[in-house]
Amino acid sequence: MQNKVTHKFSTCQWPYGDPQEKDFYFCGAKPLDSKPYCQEHCQVAYIDEKELKRQKDAIKHKKIAA
Ligand SMILES: [Zn+2]
Repeated sequence: MQNKVTHKFSTCQWPYGDPQEKDFYFCGAKPLDSKPYCQEHCQVAYIDEKELKRQKDAIKHKKIAA
């Protein structure tokens, strides 16, 4: 058994393009500490997460209202 290791990324893992396509690649910039993304993409990821949650909540509220 291996000790539990926190996965550390040495480059930003933000995906560009379609993973099915040949020109797919990762951002590759220096990531923030203990984050898989660089500062720019951490901000985008964070906003996306918030936005997704808001959309989910909106659907929930709609269902309750209906
Ligand atoms: Zn990045």
